[in-house]
Amino acid sequence: MVRTETARKDSHYVIEVRDLVKTFRRITAVDHVNLQVKKGELMTLLGPSGCGKTTLLRCITGHLNPDEGRIFIGGKDVTSIPTHKRELGMVFQAFALFPHMTAYENAEFPLKIRGFPKEEMRERVEEAIEMVRLKGWENHYPRQLSGGQQQRIGLARALVYRPKILLMDEPLSNLDAKLREQMRFEIKDLQAQLNITTIYVTHDQEEALALSNSIAIMNEGKIHQVGTPTEIYEEPRTTFVADFIGLANFIKGIVREFDNLGRAVVSSEDVGRLIVPFSHGLRKGEGLLVFIRPNDVQLLDLDDETVEDNAFEGVIEKATYLGEKVDYRIRAGSDLEMRVQVGGMSRFTRGDRVKVHLPVNRCKAIVSD
Ligand code: ATP
Repeated sequence: MVRTETARKDSHYVIEVRDLVKTFRRITAVDHVNLQVKKGELMTLLGPSGCGKTTLLRCITGHLNPDEGRIFIGGKDVTSIPTHKRELGMVFQAFALFPHMTAYENAEFPLKIRGFPKEEMRERVEEAIEMVRLKGWENHYPRQLSGGQQQRIGLARALVYRPKILLMDEPLSNLDAKLREQMRFEIKDLQAQLNITTIYVTHDQEEALALSNSIAIMNEGKIHQVGTPTEIYEEPRTTFVADFIGLANFIKGIVREFDNLGRAVVSSEDVGRLIVPFSHGLRKGEGLLVFIRPNDVQLLDLDDETVEDNAFEGVIEKATYLGEKVDYRIRAGSDLEMRVQVGGMSRFTRGDRVKVHLPVNRCKAIVSD
């Protein structure tokens, strides 16, 4: 009874991880993780090296047994089911192609060992080779293929099963930057076209932002936040998330009151009075961090009078030309280091005194960590 109800409730999510724990001696690699991936969604697990992404993925594939928690696929509890019965497509960092087999034979291999009928095998392999755009390369051996082509064969080999779920662990990390970018789009297009539910592990934030429907940010075995790329970038809930994705400025402060628009009036030792849009969890008298991205900060001439709120004086300590933008290091207020990035040519140089403006609607409050 309970099992049936669970299955029905979960059917919306193709993959669900509940309270998963995996330890290696004294290291808790996965620490009470809960995760839900919807049908057709591409979710990336993103976090720094050693945060537990691969361990979590390997628990989902069945290559590792968790110490606690359950894993559901399609509403079915698969925690104790071996890998080959979980019906997953997998692509890993090392291409792991057989060097003595052609591209075609490599893609065919998983079907061959499972004894698929010849005709069906041919149909599926041809379809997969077509999907990864390697038609004409079937008779080449891995050593005759580029890194990108080899990884496409890896992808074809995962897709010949026509799995409902695709699990990928840093599949592009052995490729050069340009190819990595190109393959990103190919994977995304293919995943969307096949509507295949995918978990994708990466430590590359740009890759995660470009590829994902949703991103789960991990650190030290825990998931800090799950959200769309925009939510993760625009509304980070912890300083870790804000800092890990993109560049961030943090200003410590205390909530003094709420104004008649419901915004928080904050006092900061470094830069004085700041106004921040309302955010849940803000309480009068309590501490917060005001967070703003470097490209959201405005730099104005010191005598500019067009802004009143959230403006204070700063001194340019470093101006670095980065092509399409200029990166400034600024010392502001009493002793705050800020990073500001402005598009176009450099208006200011080292030593200039400027007015630093933090537009209220670009400021975010981070309350809990
Ligand atoms: P990376 O991006 O570097 O691959 P990751 O986020 O995938 O890192 P994991 O490989 O999951 O991280 O490792 C998480 C933690 O568990 C690390 O501290 C790692 O040293 C440890 N760990 C992983 N596998 C084992 C193992 N087989 N035995 C002991 N410790 C392990």
